[in-house]
Amino acid sequence: MKKDYYAILGVSRDADAETIKRAYRRLALEYHPDRNPGNKQAEERFKEIAEAYEVLSNPERRRQYDLFGTSGGGVGVEAETIFSQTVEEFISSFFGGGRRGRRPQEVTGEDVRILLELSLEEVANGAEREVEYLRDDICETCGGTASSSKRPPQTCPTCGGTGQVAYRVGGGFFQQIVYQTCPDCRGSGMRIIDPCSACGGTGLRRKLHKQLVQIPPGAAGGMTLALKGAGHRGPWGGRAGDLLIEIQEKPHPVFSREGDNLIYETWVSYPELVLGTTLNIPTLSGESTSLRVPPGTHSGEIFRLQGKGLPRYSSRKRGDMIVQVHVWVPPKVGSEEKRLLETMRDTKAFQPTERKPEKHFWRRVKDLFK
Ligand SMILES: [Zn+2]
Ligand SMILES: [Zn+2]
Repeated sequence: MKKDYYAILGVSRDADAETIKRAYRRLALEYHPDRNPGNKQAEERFKEIAEAYEVLSNPERRRQYDLFGTSGGGVGVEAETIFSQTVEEFISSFFGGGRRGRRPQEVTGEDVRILLELSLEEVANGAEREVEYLRDDICETCGGTASSSKRPPQTCPTCGGTGQVAYRVGGGFFQQIVYQTCPDCRGSGMRIIDPCSACGGTGLRRKLHKQLVQIPPGAAGGMTLALKGAGHRGPWGGRAGDLLIEIQEKPHPVFSREGDNLIYETWVSYPELVLGTTLNIPTLSGESTSLRVPPGTHSGEIFRLQGKGLPRYSSRKRGDMIVQVHVWVPPKVGSEEKRLLETMRDTKAFQPTERKPEKHFWRRVKDLFK
């Protein structure tokens, strides 16, 4: 079974890095084995916490986890390291760690953003789509080396290969040294001797790219999914950016949605409302489900079909379907029906007795979920 890392750390799905770090620090200190000697449960909990943090603190792995529900790669390496530390080591690693060297930066490709329109069925059941977009890809002329003679690049003379140049700012006591990305090599620390004319010395050409994307069930309109490394390739062998897929939802002819819940309206004849009936209600899986409408149901009454709504993203739970039943009023009737209706109208049993104001639709939905 998949673990909910957000729940383990007690943070929301959109928590920022700082919130995650704070939650992790607090929990890790609470359940640290040094503070709970011999407590097997605390030990297990501590391992879970470390594992959750390992994934959620790494933007790449967090995205992967959000998108596919797994984090890819071996979880537990860092968790094991943390586990072998004492409380003191753990705390100092949090405050002392993070040396920032001035090594040349790899130039990462930019992200590509696309819109993907999905039907409600695709949103509910997940989908596989081939998408096409323009992206910077390896230049065939130079094979991505950026050099027309395919010679390996030299160290950038401007920055000496560090990818950064230093400027002095201010004077006297307040002089400061500010580092900036080297303008000549754009931070790569390399110089191309004979730039490839086909790609202008970047090693990249813009091309039409086809990509198969998997949309997990439960994605919703407005959500952006990231496919790691499917964006523009980075110049000079740098990492590729991501493909950001913004989901747009097509309106459905039958259902409307409210969060994870689906709303379905249906029309029933007056005698059926009075006598009771069983209705066939369509679902997004294609199969229909039956709904028992009891005798004496008012027009506008709502019913809840539990678990027949949309899947919840990154969860195995589903929302519900809310069915509203209306009385069907025929636009026109013949003389036979007219007689029948007139008889009904004059019968005492059909005279209204209650005149309480109708509850608003959302008020009733709220009551239903109480
Ligand atoms: Zn080239
Ligand atoms: Zn440079």
